[in-house]
Amino acid sequence: MTLRTRGYAAMGPTSPLGPWEFDRREPGPNDVVVDISHCGLCHSDIHQTRGDWGAAIFPMVPGHEIVGTVSRLGSDVRAWQLGDVVGVGVFVDSCRRCEACLAGEEQYCEPGMSTTYNGYEQDGTTPTYGGYSERIVVDENYVLRIPSGMSLPAAAPLLCAGITTYSPIRHFGVRSGDRTAVVGLGGLGHMAVKLLKALGAETTVLSHSPGKRESALRLGADDFVDTSAPGAFEQHRRRFDFIIDAVSAAHDYGQYLDLLRRDGTMVLVGLPDRPSPLDAAKLTDRRRRLAGSVIGGIRETQEMLDFCAERGVTADIEMIPIQDVNDAYERTLRGDVRFRFVIDIATLAQS
Ligand code: NAP
Ligand code: ZN
Repeated sequence: MTLRTRGYAAMGPTSPLGPWEFDRREPGPNDVVVDISHCGLCHSDIHQTRGDWGAAIFPMVPGHEIVGTVSRLGSDVRAWQLGDVVGVGVFVDSCRRCEACLAGEEQYCEPGMSTTYNGYEQDGTTPTYGGYSERIVVDENYVLRIPSGMSLPAAAPLLCAGITTYSPIRHFGVRSGDRTAVVGLGGLGHMAVKLLKALGAETTVLSHSPGKRESALRLGADDFVDTSAPGAFEQHRRRFDFIIDAVSAAHDYGQYLDLLRRDGTMVLVGLPDRPSPLDAAKLTDRRRRLAGSVIGGIRETQEMLDFCAERGVTADIEMIPIQDVNDAYERTLRGDVRFRFVIDIATLAQS
């Protein structure tokens, strides 16, 4: 027996998304079934459905910013009850035995995490399908609790955009009063601004879109720099202790490294489709560090959700019916979103 599930899928890297029905497994003893209410639209969904990151698995049902309600429980499930409001992020399983998994950093699982879509379950052969669908079946250990009182659609983007920015901000020890900057005011970038401000850091947005100034300040940023303006980079040299770069397209990292003070750190979370050259002198000068980071582990994701609930932080979203998802892809590529599209999964019924 399987669970027939409606969703939206891309059939190949050049095809638009459209309605598609597929089978999910019957819940095993440790699985829960989550009826999905909303799913965020991450730029990674676009990269992957379009094959930007190399070989991909089709048909592909994207979506890894999933929120919903537990509707069925496997016989051995202890952590969850029917009706619990939960989230599922970028991965649905991992080996559970390697050093990374044992450290609670499943996103760096040595044999490899099972990504929520465009991946395989830990058996290595069963493809995974994501949250642009009515339900998902997940092992209970890979499910997050959405704190009560949080708006569900506005919480969805926390499952990827939230944790991807929270994790490096914490890992690299950003503290209250630090001079920080966020490059790229998109879905990830706007979460970074909110989280840095919640931690008491001074935060500047570095954006190539001058039209975003007002919204950056409204989000709480202390300053806004239009990086497309002549002289912008010279003017802000050696200003920041910490920079988080959430840009989706290839760009010159060296220009931004120049903005770091001595011993400053720049963390890349954006994953452009092609590499950018780097001049070693940008790092040797002022003993700067360039690092990268991928999402966060289950424990840290729960910590982030609880932190956000405590501080009243959620995403700024535009809700769309699933029928508008292809248009939302194009609008995201044009930078025409404030700041995350979230799909109302109930609209699947109209497809
Ligand atoms: P997004 O909402 O589309 O935002 C990307 C931002 O990048 C844009 O808002 C824009 O900001 C900037 N940008 C776009 N094109 C640019 C260009 N040609 N030159 C300079 N800046 C440009 O995307 P997102 O969902 O936040 O994702 C951002 C990136 O992070 C993607 O590559 C995604 O795959 C990756 N990602 C990584 C992880 C991880 O674990 N590391 C997790 C999720 C996503 P301005 O207009 O302000 O300049
Ligand atoms: Zn994502």
